[in-house]
Order: sequence, then structure tokens, then C-alpha cells
Amino acid sequence: MPQETIDLRSDTVTVPSLGMRAAIAEAPLGDDVIDTDPTIAALEEFAANLLGKEASIFMPSGTMTNQIALRVHCLPGDEFLCEENCHIFNYEQGAFAQLSGLVGRTVRGEYGVLSLAQLEGRIRPENDHLTRTRLLCLENTHNRGGGRVLPYEGLTEMCGWAHENGLATHLDGARLMNAVVATEIPAAQWCQHFDTVSLCLSKGLGAPVGSILAGTQEKITLARRHRKLFGGGMRQAGVIAAGGLYALQHNIERLAEDHQNALVLANAVRAAEGLRLEPPRVDTNMVLFRVAQWLATAPDFAASLESHGVRCLAICPEQIRLVTHLDVSREQVERAGEIIVTLAEKISQGEVKAATGGELY
Ligand SMILES: *Cc1c(COP(=O)(O)O)cnc(C)c1O
Repeated sequence: MPQETIDLRSDTVTVPSLGMRAAIAEAPLGDDVIDTDPTIAALEEFAANLLGKEASIFMPSGTMTNQIALRVHCLPGDEFLCEENCHIFNYEQGAFAQLSGLVGRTVRGEYGVLSLAQLEGRIRPENDHLTRTRLLCLENTHNRGGGRVLPYEGLTEMCGWAHENGLATHLDGARLMNAVVATEIPAAQWCQHFDTVSLCLSKGLGAPVGSILAGTQEKITLARRHRKLFGGGMRQAGVIAAGGLYALQHNIERLAEDHQNALVLANAVRAAEGLRLEPPRVDTNMVLFRVAQWLATAPDFAASLESHGVRCLAICPEQIRLVTHLDVSREQVERAGEIIVTLAEKISQGEVKAATGGELY
């Protein structure tokens, strides 16, 4: 067995740093359901300022912030427009239908990137036969697009079009800060185009739990009511919000290191036999690649890597995802890269057999 595991499955696998644990230990607490918890209030104010919004609200997960955003903008029977591979449509159990009676209409983007021309004509006319198109949801960075940063100009155009046509706009900004660091476009500038924005604290930012939903005071007051309905009212949750506040204060700029580390992995994949970057460009902290059929299935190649100490996820039968984060160092990604190149070479030369029985994520 390898002496050490390098965990590249997701940027959610990080554990709180010592500094974050100290902040958690010292956080003043209260009952955030009866009235307020001072640490949650501090986090909500800090996040609202960062995102350039009037108000924000802390919730247990990104799924909840997204689903409550949909609920705040739509009524049962309403429809929202989104990219075909987005998280809201694919990875939240169709909660928009289960919990809010909504319909999603998907449009296929290129690595998650849509253009205005693709959206035009998708708003249904007012007619008793039809759903009502109410909302445009975008995702930045785009997870299934391989951490793709949405082009700012296109995003501006699409949101402008949405507002001109009476649609609200929501940003699934689970990894918005990766886009901020990659482009040097401030968070508030990205967010000004959206009525609501969700942001995960528990991904690359390194907090153990939690997400933020930001918007106007009116929308956030409504979101607070829905948060209770959805079971997300949490009492002395300043113990976790303290980690989120620490994350926003200390862990944004350092995302640049994760992006550089992802480039190191991408170069290893480019050099490896039977592997191909897909998408070919790495924008932020994710590296997706295809495994040639003659080499192994993606789940089996992932299982082989795991037995050599590199953990990753097979996200479809031919594709693997690597994600960098604050708990993997430059030295570790360099080693992971060497392991990937060596393993691909040994399997292709028949020196070792790929593992079998690997699992699809
Ligand atoms: C992780 C993620 C979410 C959901 O966050 P959870 O906290 O896991 O519920 C939403 N959108 C995107 C793009 C994500 O990557």
C-alpha cells in the first residue's frame, strides 16, 4: 500500500485548518432560529458586502441555497432556463420539481458555456397551454464543464436579455471565487448581473459546512422563511459559520495556488499515453480527462490510481475528474502527476493490468 493518499476527488474533502478551528472555538453564539446568532450575522454581512448585495443568508448546503433561490423567484408550474449539464438540473435530485413544482428547460452549452443566441426564442409566450418562463440560472465556474469560467461579456449579455424580458437571474456560484481569482474580475462585478447568487463555503474555500445565498433584502427575507420550511433553520450554527467567515477572510486569494496545481496535473495528463484532456483547457481547479478504451474504463483506471495512492472520481465510463484544493500541496500534485503518467505507460505496455471493479461516481 502507498504510504500516503493524495485525495483529488473534490475540493470538498478539505478539513478545517488550525486557524479555522481556533476561529470556530472562539465564535460567539446565539439561537439563529429564535432571533440571531452573532457569528452567522457577521458572516452574512461580510458575504453580502463581498458579493455586492443588500443581504445574504447562511444555509447548510449549496443545494439548499440553489433550491431556495428557485423557490424565491418562481411559483409552481413556472419554468427556468439553464445549461444542460448544470448542477441545479442534474445533481440535486430534481428538487425543483419535487419541492417547488417547477420545470427546468435545458440548453446545451459548450463545456457549460451558453450564448445569448442559444437563449433567444426560449421564453414561452403568455398562453393558457404553456408554463411561464420566469428565471435564467447560470453556473460559474461550471462544474461539469471542468471548472470552466463563463466569459464575462456573454454572461452580461444573457443576464441583460433576461432582465429586459422579465426574467429573474440566479447564479449558482458554488465556485464563483475560483472565477474571481482566475479573471481578477471582482465578485461584486460578476454578481451585479444576478438577482440572487449562491456561494459554497465548503468547496475550495475550505470551510467544513455551509453556503451563502445573497440578493436584495426582500428576496433574502423570503429565503429565510423558505429556509425554515426546507428544514435549514439552524440554532447555534455560528460554530460552522465561523469556519465560513474565516474561509472568506483567508482562503480566497490562495485559490490561485490550486489553479496552478491544476495546470501541473493537466501537463501530466497531456504527457500520459492513452489519456486526453477533455475539456482541453483548464481554467481553474479541475482537470477532466478521457481514458482511451484500449487502456481501461475510467472507473477501472481510477481504481488503479487509488491503489497507487491517488484518489479521483470516474464521472462517466470514459472520463475522470481531478480537483485541486488547499489540502494538496504542489509537491503532492507533482507526485500525483508522475503516478498518473507511469501507470498509464505501464498499463499500455502490458507491464501491469488495470484494476477491475472500479466504481462510477
Ligand atoms: C457542490 C455544488 C453545489 C451543491 O453544493 P452542496 O453543498 O454539495 O449541496 C451546487 N452547485 C455546484 C456547481 C456545485 O459544484
